[in-house]
Amino acid sequence: MMLDLFPENIKPHIIPKVQGKLYYKCLGCSAEYSIEKLLYVCPECNQVLLIHDRNTQALKQIPGPVWQKIFDFRKMLKIPALKGIYRYHEFIGSCIPLESIIYLGEGHTPVVEANKSLKEKVGLSFFYKNDGQNPSASFKDRGMASAISSIKYLMDKNLVSDVIAVCASTGDTSAAAALYASYLGPLIKSAVLLPHKKVTSQQLSQPLGSGAQVFEIPGVFDDCMKIVEHLSTRYSVVLLNSKNAWRILGQESYSYEIAQDFEWNMKDKAVIVPIGNAGNISAIMNGFIKFYEANIIDCLPKIIGVQSEHADPVFQYYLEPDEAKRKFVPVDTKPSVAQAAMIGNPVSMPRVVEITKKYNALALCQHVFFVQVTEQSIMDWQLAANKNGHIACTQGGECLAGLVKALNKNLINNKETAILDATAHAIKFSEFQDLYFKSEIPEAYKIDPDPGNINLPSLIWPDDPNIIPTQKKRLKGKNFQKFVKDISDKIAKRLQLKESE
Ligand SMILES: *Cc1c(COP(=O)(O)O)cnc(C)c1O
Ligand SMILES: [Zn+2]
Repeated sequence: MMLDLFPENIKPHIIPKVQGKLYYKCLGCSAEYSIEKLLYVCPECNQVLLIHDRNTQALKQIPGPVWQKIFDFRKMLKIPALKGIYRYHEFIGSCIPLESIIYLGEGHTPVVEANKSLKEKVGLSFFYKNDGQNPSASFKDRGMASAISSIKYLMDKNLVSDVIAVCASTGDTSAAAALYASYLGPLIKSAVLLPHKKVTSQQLSQPLGSGAQVFEIPGVFDDCMKIVEHLSTRYSVVLLNSKNAWRILGQESYSYEIAQDFEWNMKDKAVIVPIGNAGNISAIMNGFIKFYEANIIDCLPKIIGVQSEHADPVFQYYLEPDEAKRKFVPVDTKPSVAQAAMIGNPVSMPRVVEITKKYNALALCQHVFFVQVTEQSIMDWQLAANKNGHIACTQGGECLAGLVKALNKNLINNKETAILDATAHAIKFSEFQDLYFKSEIPEAYKIDPDPGNINLPSLIWPDDPNIIPTQKKRLKGKNFQKFVKDISDKIAKRLQLKESE
């Protein structure tokens, strides 16, 4: 749509101005730092950081309903920089000029309602938001678009050059990091560290295809993370893990989109999120808080964080009801089909603690909950979802298992509507489905395949060994007719087809 055609009260705002005064703030000692330097933890106390904006008060001068219109009208623009997470520029990275924004098609993922039979099976109305439909097939692209745009911004200002970006990953961060870095070609090189044999082959192929240097390390994700932290404190590298506060900022777009998807009405809504390194749940809560404080939404949705019993440090922390007595203890993870969330010592734990407290205070009641689910329920619910038209990964299955758990514990009731994060595409984690269907899931996962869920291909072979087509030897004439009839009859029998009249 042409700029001239927008309503008069929207026109001045439709193209965002570069105006934010962003800064890093330490979660430990509250020290503030310029964003013009690469920084991941507080130099004083070593705590993680969050990005704040000194311009927040000015944003509140625009009434909430006007903001809603601005974002609705921005949907019509054809400017690439504003097509993804930066539709919400003023709330995402308002200091970044449109020329520095990297857009690879991330964000604005579909929200798909569960069909009647799945709703009945679960017991309430819910939607999946398919973040697997992002370019590298997981939500990590949201944070990566933000982190890489911030680097491009610093490069364009001649504040950094010759960037080597590194990350540790359970598979999806590295796919996103390698993809976004490859778009900036020779300006930025990327290296990713993966726990050996703890990512799927699809996830391993992604950074290789994007041309990143891939290092496989023995151990689990938590070990890789420590190595990357060591590298980032001693060498000049850009850290692309969610320790990087720009990642959190970009992932806040998930909440902004949910608000817009549901016409800005968050009443009786609950957002269900799987927790690994806890960056995503921090970002999602923070996003809703920002829109609430700017009067763009008038209530906060419930948040339900889900962890597998094989990797549940956040759940364990919140088991203690007395806030003063809570003490964070990292756990040793056990094998989990929700492998992307298989983390025992989440980097964003301090963020979760601080933001959860603020969220509950703003909601005026407990509004953030944590539930724990079994590996068995993760697989069974993932398969159930995907048999009903969804494309949920194992972590998406974990969300649905978590929703069922929350219902059983009365943390949510059937008058509410849940929005579940399908954090990656099912095909990234198809190896676990294969193992389940072949009844080959290793003992340590503690999963017994339900025979009713198993689905395997059937090989249909002709009776006559002399009429089998191969690529080299094609069948002709009578033989071919016989082959077609023989196989068709066998399939018709299996499907119990009725003859047409
Ligand atoms: C990274 C990831 C998670 C966990 O998110 P955190 O921000 O680490 O808590 C969950 N699901 C998928 C598919 C992921 O890639
Ligand atoms: Zn500090």
